[in-house]
Amino acid sequence: MSQEWNIRSRGHICSFCEKPLVDKAPLVSALKETTGGYERFDCHPECWKTAEKDWVPFSQWDGVYFAPKKEEKKETLKKEDAGELLRKLMTLDDPAMKNVVYVLAVMLERSKILVERDAKELEDGTIRRVYEDRKQGDTFVILDPRLRLENLGEVQQQVVALLSGTKTLGEVAQEEESAPTEEAAPNEETQPQAE
Ligand SMILES: [Zn+2]
Repeated sequence: MSQEWNIRSRGHICSFCEKPLVDKAPLVSALKETTGGYERFDCHPECWKTAEKDWVPFSQWDGVYFAPKKEEKKETLKKEDAGELLRKLMTLDDPAMKNVVYVLAVMLERSKILVERDAKELEDGTIRRVYEDRKQGDTFVILDPRLRLENLGEVQQQVVALLSGTKTLGEVAQEEESAPTEEAAPNEETQPQAE
């Protein structure tokens, strides 16, 4: 289960040469699968190229490093809350919330808070999507529950209810547990990337 719920923070020093990463300079980030989940690497592009690695990354992408700022100006309250809610949900590690977590991540991607870095189909046929927080650089490895399109609206309503405070996490988890689970037909899957 731990593999489905993973937050990894962006490092501030190079994983290989251990020198500081440079503000606004390119970096290479990678996730390495471990027995307990994922290990994250952030490094200078040249270090990534030259370092000896006896492993194949689960996921790898090019990004830009941003040094942490003292007081990040809040854009809008709502966006901040949505990001906080995602972190909270992922920390809670409740399988009943997998649909809510996924839809929230897609909503945050659409509001340009998160960027999808990778999507991986595992041997068991499940899909993990790697999202990165554009500003803070945290990585979220999220299970794609392959929601049916007709269920998407319902989950979106739950997310909105959580954000507006009209429903508690416990209430939503209960709804999710009592909801009938159906086999998703391949042609009815949601495709968040196709826009
Ligand atoms: Zn380096």
